[in-house]
Amino acid sequence: MDKPSNKGPLAPKNNPRGNYQLWVILGTIVLVVALMVLNNAGSLKETDMLNFKAMVAERNVKKVVLIKNLEYVEITLKSQALQNTKYKDELERGNAMGINANGPHYKLNIGSIEGFEKEFAELNKKLPTSEQIQYNVEKRDDYVGLFFSWGLLFLVLIGFWMLMRRMSGGGGPGGQIFNIGKSKAALFDAENKVKITFADVAGLDEAKEEIKEIVDFLKTPTKFTKLGGKIPKGALLVGPPGTGKTLLAKAVAGEAGVPFFSLSGSDFVEMFVGVGAARVRDLFKQAKEKAPCIVFIDEIDAIGRSRGRGQMPGANDERENTLNSLLVEMDGFATDSGVIILAATNRPDVLDSALLRPGRFDRQISIDKPDVVGREAIFKVHLKPIKLEPDVDVKKLAAQTPGFAGAEIANVCNEAALIAARRDKKAVDMQDFQDAIDRVIGGLEKKTKIISPEEKKIVAYHEAGHAVAGWFLEHADPLVKVSIVPRGVAALGYAQYLPKEQFLYQTEQMLDEMCMTFGGRAAEDIVFGKISTGALSDLERITKMAYSIVTVYGMNDKIGNMSFYDSKASEYNFNKPYSEATAEKIDVEVKRIIDGAYERTKQLLLKHKNELEIIAKELLEKEILFQSDLERLIGKRPFEKLTTYQQFTNGSMDKKEEVKPEEKAVENAATPEEKTAE
Ligand code: ADP
Ligand code: ZN
Repeated sequence: MDKPSNKGPLAPKNNPRGNYQLWVILGTIVLVVALMVLNNAGSLKETDMLNFKAMVAERNVKKVVLIKNLEYVEITLKSQALQNTKYKDELERGNAMGINANGPHYKLNIGSIEGFEKEFAELNKKLPTSEQIQYNVEKRDDYVGLFFSWGLLFLVLIGFWMLMRRMSGGGGPGGQIFNIGKSKAALFDAENKVKITFADVAGLDEAKEEIKEIVDFLKTPTKFTKLGGKIPKGALLVGPPGTGKTLLAKAVAGEAGVPFFSLSGSDFVEMFVGVGAARVRDLFKQAKEKAPCIVFIDEIDAIGRSRGRGQMPGANDERENTLNSLLVEMDGFATDSGVIILAATNRPDVLDSALLRPGRFDRQISIDKPDVVGREAIFKVHLKPIKLEPDVDVKKLAAQTPGFAGAEIANVCNEAALIAARRDKKAVDMQDFQDAIDRVIGGLEKKTKIISPEEKKIVAYHEAGHAVAGWFLEHADPLVKVSIVPRGVAALGYAQYLPKEQFLYQTEQMLDEMCMTFGGRAAEDIVFGKISTGALSDLERITKMAYSIVTVYGMNDKIGNMSFYDSKASEYNFNKPYSEATAEKIDVEVKRIIDGAYERTKQLLLKHKNELEIIAKELLEKEILFQSDLERLIGKRPFEKLTTYQQFTNGSMDKKEEVKPEEKAVENAATPEEKTAE
């Protein structure tokens, strides 16, 4: 079919709003021009006092009207005077409508009314009584002035009105001005259905189990209400970013086949008063219309922060109002309305307790960063669409990505595919994945970053120092990989560790950790006799740890079992909860701990200087070393301690699958510890 021509009579009005605006503008222009023309047509020939006196002397003036408020005089000539070519030519020139016989004909601006009246009376006196000039005083409306004052206002109003139309018209970037009280929730319903199911969510078995019940509620509510049970109103998904909270909520909607509203807590926040509360109400109104449905509020801590905490007095009443209206709405809708609220946060500790009490988010589902088994499962999900070489080993990938959340794993898979494509490969191989992991950890490889050989040597010894220190410290996390390929903005190298999944740290563990972090600087000191600025982030970490040993965990003899940490503290609390004397003691103790750790690290590295040399040399040559390389070069770690992973697989808590021997070093990860050194 031919496309309809835009010129034809049936051509669609492609942009009615644009046309209509054009009309308004055109209309305004026409109005202005018309007013000016009209004004001009009515305007009189101007004359001056001298001419006026001449006119009077020649007895040509019939009538004079003083327009008092505008300070001018209208002069009407006698009809026989109009025949006089002197006036006729002058009056006809530039006047298409011809001479108006009735006048007025001339206009004379006067300086002062009294002055003119005096002068005019004198002129009139000179004339014979029969030829006295008619004299009137009038008031006139000033159309021109009126136009300029009111018309301009009118124009401004029109402009303003048009602006508002545009803003409320949606589409445009300012489209929300009139919809400001509307919720910004994105709706996925029958038309744009959520196609994510539980199969797309890897790992998270416990969370899935919990949340499957919610799907059942939505599918067959009567099954539960029949026995008198109440359907939960909401569930709170708690976990670090990127662990799949949104994904899980979407899967619930996908499985239950119900509409899904998705929005973020910050969508409620606006600088206008009352907007947040209005949006909450609007959201619930929409949700009730679509019930049964799921409302997902991401980052609920943006509004759900406990009231009156961490703020200046009276600073954020608006957020408080928003939270209150959320609470009211959650209480307001009946449990059988079929609306289930899922919310996600990574800071459950800052949430207002009112949100967490039963009847609101009665369930808390915690979602942690995946362990090695979980990572393997997530890799499998994201590897599905990728063309792989046979050498890609999912288990190895999972082992090399401790501390990665689902989002980062998805990112690695995507990066690997992109890297392989850039290299014109037919399929993605292990090397591409390795590079992708490096890239996700450290940022872009800086091929162009030129490092002098001396600098490179310093970096190599620095990283080797971390590696060796970690290797021979019983409580330090074992190393996964150390790299001196320059990456990202500042990092010249990094070492990646496998943190144990543990929640309690003993003093020795903290001290060992500090020593390992000191490994870099100590190695530089020992080998070169000089230190560099490359240890900045190491030192920052060490200092923080030392202070927390003393002031937070009460692990120091001199200070005693005291913690100055206040979980309820406001962010604007500048008062230290201890005296100056204690502050001095704290500083002394912190320095003692740090100095001690440094001395210990130095002794350790001096004892293992051979190993340090071996690793640094190898690192200079290969740039990247893995744990297996370290074992090959300097032997196994001299500790017989079971790793967390072995404990899991051998002990009574055995619930994970078998681990192959070469993987036993892989433990459940908490966070990836990347130490960078420049
Ligand atoms: P969160 O809401 O917790 O910040 P998301 O749910 O938005 O994280 O996760 C971001 C992305 O990470 C998802 O789109 C998905 O590709 C990936 N992802 C995260 N967790 C998983 C998982 N358990 N299984 C599969 N993919 C996951
Ligand atoms: Zn370092």
